[in-house]
Amino acid sequence: MRKNIVAGNWKMNTTVPEGVQLAKEVVEKSKEVPAEVGLIVATPFTHLCPVAEVLKGTRVELSAQNCADKEKGAYTGEVSVGMLVSTGAKWTILGHSERRQYYGENDSKLVDKVQLALAAGLKVILCVGENLDEREAGKHFDVVKTQTENVLYHFTAEDMKNIVVAYEPVWAIGTGKTATAEQAQEIHACIRKVLAAKFGAQVADDTTILYGGSCKPSNAKELFAQPDIDGGLIGGAALKADDFIGIAMSF
Ligand code: PEP
Repeated sequence: MRKNIVAGNWKMNTTVPEGVQLAKEVVEKSKEVPAEVGLIVATPFTHLCPVAEVLKGTRVELSAQNCADKEKGAYTGEVSVGMLVSTGAKWTILGHSERRQYYGENDSKLVDKVQLALAAGLKVILCVGENLDEREAGKHFDVVKTQTENVLYHFTAEDMKNIVVAYEPVWAIGTGKTATAEQAQEIHACIRKVLAAKFGAQVADDTTILYGGSCKPSNAKELFAQPDIDGGLIGGAALKADDFIGIAMSF
Protein backbone atom coordinates (compact mmCIF):
# COMPACT_ATOMS: atom_id res chain seq x y z
CA MET A 1 0.00 0.00 0.00
CA ARG A 2 1.46 3.33 -0.96
CA LYS A 3 1.67 6.16 1.53
CA ASN A 4 -0.02 9.54 1.31
CA ILE A 5 2.50 12.32 1.84
CA VAL A 6 2.43 16.09 2.04
CA ALA A 7 5.87 17.69 1.67
CA GLY A 8 6.61 21.39 2.06
CA ASN A 9 9.31 22.90 -0.13
CA TRP A 10 10.40 26.09 1.58
CA LYS A 11 12.71 26.99 -1.34
CA MET A 12 14.96 29.99 -0.55
CA ASN A 13 12.61 31.45 2.03
CA THR A 14 12.85 32.22 5.76
CA THR A 15 15.85 33.10 7.90
CA VAL A 16 17.05 30.42 10.31
CA PRO A 17 15.00 31.77 13.28
CA GLU A 18 11.92 32.12 11.04
CA GLY A 19 12.39 28.57 9.77
CA VAL A 20 12.75 27.19 13.30
CA GLN A 21 9.55 28.99 14.29
CA LEU A 22 7.71 27.64 11.21
CA ALA A 23 8.90 24.10 11.99
CA LYS A 24 7.64 24.45 15.58
CA GLU A 25 4.22 25.53 14.32
CA VAL A 26 4.08 22.64 11.83
CA VAL A 27 4.93 20.16 14.60
CA GLU A 28 2.30 21.64 16.90
CA LYS A 29 -0.44 21.53 14.26
CA SER A 30 0.61 18.14 12.90
CA LYS A 31 -1.33 16.55 15.77
CA GLU A 32 -4.51 17.35 13.83
CA VAL A 33 -3.41 15.32 10.79
CA PRO A 34 -4.33 11.62 10.58
CA ALA A 35 -1.34 9.51 11.65
CA GLU A 36 -1.07 7.66 8.34
CA VAL A 37 -0.30 10.84 6.37
CA GLY A 38 3.44 11.43 5.99
CA LEU A 39 4.62 14.99 6.65
CA ILE A 40 7.93 16.34 5.35
CA VAL A 41 9.51 19.79 5.40
CA ALA A 42 12.29 20.56 2.92
CA THR A 43 14.32 23.45 4.28
CA PRO A 44 17.30 25.41 2.96
CA PHE A 45 20.65 23.76 3.81
CA THR A 46 21.38 26.34 6.51
CA HIS A 47 18.22 25.37 8.39
CA LEU A 48 18.66 21.60 8.44
CA CYS A 49 20.50 21.25 11.78
CA PRO A 50 18.34 23.58 13.87
CA VAL A 51 15.13 22.31 12.29
CA ALA A 52 16.26 18.71 12.89
CA GLU A 53 16.38 19.58 16.60
CA VAL A 54 12.79 20.83 16.45
CA LEU A 55 11.59 17.72 14.58
CA LYS A 56 13.39 15.19 16.81
CA GLY A 57 10.88 12.67 18.18
CA THR A 58 8.01 14.09 16.09
CA ARG A 59 6.24 12.67 13.04
CA VAL A 60 7.52 15.43 10.73
CA GLU A 61 10.48 14.34 8.61
CA LEU A 62 13.27 16.55 7.37
CA SER A 63 14.32 16.97 3.75
CA ALA A 64 16.89 18.91 1.80
CA GLN A 65 16.03 20.52 -1.53
CA ASN A 66 19.07 19.32 -3.47
CA CYS A 67 22.42 17.57 -3.05
CA ALA A 68 25.79 17.54 -4.77
CA ASP A 69 26.41 15.17 -7.68
CA LYS A 70 29.78 14.19 -6.15
CA GLU A 71 30.50 12.31 -2.97
CA LYS A 72 33.05 14.72 -1.47
CA GLY A 73 36.11 16.79 -2.24
CA ALA A 74 37.02 20.05 -3.96
CA TYR A 75 33.55 21.21 -5.01
CA THR A 76 33.25 24.65 -3.46
CA GLY A 77 29.78 25.59 -2.37
CA GLU A 78 28.30 22.12 -2.75
CA VAL A 79 26.62 20.02 -0.05
CA SER A 80 27.10 16.25 -0.11
CA VAL A 81 24.62 13.51 0.73
CA GLY A 82 26.84 12.50 3.66
CA MET A 83 26.57 16.02 5.04
CA LEU A 84 22.79 15.91 4.65
CA VAL A 85 22.51 12.62 6.49
CA SER A 86 24.67 14.00 9.31
CA THR A 87 22.13 16.80 9.89
CA GLY A 88 19.31 14.34 10.48
CA ALA A 89 17.72 14.79 7.05
CA LYS A 90 15.91 11.69 5.81
CA TRP A 91 14.97 12.98 2.34
CA THR A 92 16.10 15.16 -0.47
CA ILE A 93 14.10 16.71 -3.29
CA LEU A 94 15.87 16.25 -6.63
CA GLY A 95 15.16 17.58 -10.10
CA HIS A 96 12.93 20.46 -9.07
CA SER A 97 12.06 22.50 -12.16
CA GLU A 98 13.74 25.56 -10.67
CA ARG A 99 16.98 23.61 -10.50
CA ARG A 100 16.50 22.29 -14.02
CA GLN A 101 15.68 25.79 -15.31
CA TYR A 102 18.19 27.98 -13.45
CA TYR A 103 21.05 25.64 -12.51
CA GLY A 104 21.42 23.33 -15.46
CA GLU A 105 20.22 20.22 -13.69
CA ASN A 106 19.79 17.53 -16.32
CA ASP A 107 18.67 13.94 -16.28
CA SER A 108 22.18 12.48 -16.32
CA LYS A 109 23.23 14.61 -13.33
CA LEU A 110 20.05 13.52 -11.63
CA VAL A 111 20.92 9.85 -12.07
CA ASP A 112 24.20 10.51 -10.21
CA LYS A 113 22.43 12.45 -7.48
CA VAL A 114 19.71 9.84 -6.95
CA GLN A 115 22.38 7.13 -6.84
CA LEU A 116 24.40 9.00 -4.21
CA ALA A 117 21.32 9.86 -2.16
CA LEU A 118 20.04 6.28 -2.05
CA ALA A 119 23.49 4.91 -1.27
CA ALA A 120 23.74 7.30 1.68
CA GLY A 121 20.34 6.16 2.98
CA LEU A 122 18.36 9.22 1.92
CA LYS A 123 14.92 8.93 0.37
CA VAL A 124 14.29 10.94 -2.77
CA ILE A 125 11.43 13.07 -4.05
CA LEU A 126 12.12 13.21 -7.79
CA CYS A 127 10.33 16.04 -9.62
CA VAL A 128 9.16 15.85 -13.22
CA GLY A 129 6.90 18.13 -15.22
CA GLU A 130 6.39 19.96 -18.49
CA ASN A 131 6.64 23.68 -19.12
CA LEU A 132 3.93 25.82 -20.67
CA ASP A 133 5.25 25.58 -24.26
CA GLU A 134 5.42 21.82 -23.99
CA ARG A 135 1.87 21.62 -22.67
CA GLU A 136 0.53 23.95 -25.33
CA ALA A 137 2.27 21.87 -27.99
CA GLY A 138 0.54 18.77 -26.58
CA LYS A 139 3.87 17.23 -25.57
CA HIS A 140 3.20 16.95 -21.84
CA PHE A 141 2.80 13.17 -21.73
CA ASP A 142 5.99 12.65 -23.74
CA VAL A 143 8.03 15.09 -21.65
CA VAL A 144 7.00 13.56 -18.35
CA LYS A 145 7.46 10.02 -19.67
CA THR A 146 10.96 10.84 -20.93
CA GLN A 147 12.03 12.62 -17.74
CA THR A 148 10.76 9.70 -15.64
CA GLU A 149 12.40 7.04 -17.80
CA ASN A 150 15.69 8.92 -18.17
CA VAL A 151 16.23 8.93 -14.44
CA LEU A 152 14.29 6.10 -12.86
CA TYR A 153 15.05 3.41 -15.43
CA HIS A 154 18.62 3.42 -14.03
CA PHE A 155 17.27 2.08 -10.73
CA THR A 156 15.80 -1.15 -9.39
CA ALA A 157 12.46 -2.16 -7.93
CA GLU A 158 14.20 -2.24 -4.54
CA ASP A 159 15.41 1.35 -5.03
CA MET A 160 11.86 2.44 -5.83
CA LYS A 161 10.89 1.74 -2.20
CA ASN A 162 12.86 4.88 -1.34
CA ILE A 163 11.73 7.09 -4.22
CA VAL A 164 8.66 9.28 -4.45
CA VAL A 165 7.79 10.99 -7.75
CA ALA A 166 6.38 14.53 -7.79
CA TYR A 167 4.54 15.69 -10.89
CA GLU A 168 4.95 19.46 -11.04
CA PRO A 169 3.73 21.17 -14.20
CA VAL A 170 6.12 24.12 -14.44
CA TRP A 171 3.31 26.46 -15.55
CA ALA A 172 1.51 25.81 -12.27
CA ILE A 173 4.45 26.38 -9.91
CA GLY A 174 4.12 29.59 -7.95
CA THR A 175 1.71 30.99 -10.55
CA GLY A 176 -1.56 30.47 -8.70
CA LYS A 177 -2.62 28.44 -11.73
CA THR A 178 -3.32 24.89 -10.56
CA ALA A 179 -3.64 21.96 -12.93
CA THR A 180 -7.21 20.70 -12.86
CA ALA A 181 -7.72 17.48 -10.98
CA GLU A 182 -8.31 15.75 -14.34
CA GLN A 183 -5.11 17.18 -15.90
CA ALA A 184 -3.07 16.07 -12.89
CA GLN A 185 -4.74 12.65 -12.67
CA GLU A 186 -4.06 11.76 -16.30
CA ILE A 187 -0.36 12.55 -15.93
CA HIS A 188 -0.13 10.68 -12.64
CA ALA A 189 -1.72 7.66 -14.29
CA CYS A 190 0.80 7.99 -17.12
CA ILE A 191 3.74 8.08 -14.65
CA ARG A 192 2.39 4.97 -12.95
CA LYS A 193 2.19 3.24 -16.34
CA VAL A 194 5.80 4.21 -17.10
CA LEU A 195 6.86 2.73 -13.74
CA ALA A 196 4.82 -0.44 -14.35
CA ALA A 197 6.51 -0.95 -17.72
CA LYS A 198 9.93 -1.14 -16.07
CA PHE A 199 9.29 -2.39 -12.54
CA GLY A 200 5.95 -4.21 -12.78
CA ALA A 201 2.45 -3.36 -11.61
CA GLN A 202 3.11 -3.93 -7.91
CA VAL A 203 6.00 -1.45 -7.69
CA ALA A 204 4.02 1.09 -9.72
CA ASP A 205 1.07 0.65 -7.42
CA ASP A 206 3.25 1.04 -4.31
CA THR A 207 4.97 4.24 -5.48
CA THR A 208 3.75 7.50 -4.01
CA ILE A 209 3.18 10.15 -6.69
CA LEU A 210 2.70 13.72 -5.45
CA TYR A 211 1.19 16.67 -7.26
CA GLY A 212 2.87 20.08 -7.01
CA GLY A 213 1.85 23.45 -8.43
CA SER A 214 -0.16 26.08 -6.56
CA CYS A 215 -1.72 23.47 -4.31
CA LYS A 216 -3.57 25.06 -1.40
CA PRO A 217 -6.18 24.09 1.20
CA SER A 218 -8.99 25.14 -1.15
CA ASN A 219 -8.00 22.82 -4.02
CA ALA A 220 -6.16 19.98 -2.26
CA LYS A 221 -9.27 17.91 -1.53
CA GLU A 222 -10.26 17.63 -5.18
CA LEU A 223 -6.70 16.83 -6.26
CA PHE A 224 -6.12 14.25 -3.51
CA ALA A 225 -9.44 12.55 -4.33
CA GLN A 226 -7.99 11.40 -7.66
CA PRO A 227 -7.01 7.73 -7.68
CA ASP A 228 -3.37 8.29 -8.67
CA ILE A 229 -2.64 11.45 -6.66
CA ASP A 230 -1.11 10.47 -3.34
CA GLY A 231 -0.45 13.89 -1.85
CA GLY A 232 1.35 17.09 -2.64
CA LEU A 233 4.66 18.86 -2.90
CA ILE A 234 3.79 22.29 -1.63
CA GLY A 235 5.73 25.52 -2.24
CA GLY A 236 4.14 28.84 -1.30
CA ALA A 237 1.45 27.37 0.94
CA ALA A 238 4.10 25.49 2.97
CA LEU A 239 5.35 28.78 4.38
CA LYS A 240 2.23 29.11 6.53
CA ALA A 241 1.75 26.26 8.99
CA ASP A 242 -2.04 26.63 8.89
CA ASP A 243 -2.14 26.27 5.11
CA PHE A 244 0.37 23.42 5.04
CA ILE A 245 -1.55 21.48 7.67
CA GLY A 246 -4.85 22.42 6.02
CA ILE A 247 -3.57 20.71 2.87
CA ALA A 248 -2.46 17.65 4.85
CA MET A 249 -5.99 17.40 6.30
CA SER A 250 -7.46 17.18 2.80
CA PHE A 251 -7.30 13.41 2.26
C1 PEP B 1 7.08 23.78 -5.76
O1 PEP B 1 7.92 24.60 -6.03
O2 PEP B 1 7.45 22.61 -5.51
C2 PEP B 1 5.68 24.18 -5.76
C3 PEP B 1 4.77 23.27 -5.94
O3 PEP B 1 5.43 25.52 -5.58
P1 PEP B 1 3.99 26.22 -5.40
O4 PEP B 1 3.17 25.35 -4.47
O5 PEP B 1 4.28 27.56 -4.81
O6 PEP B 1 3.38 26.31 -6.76
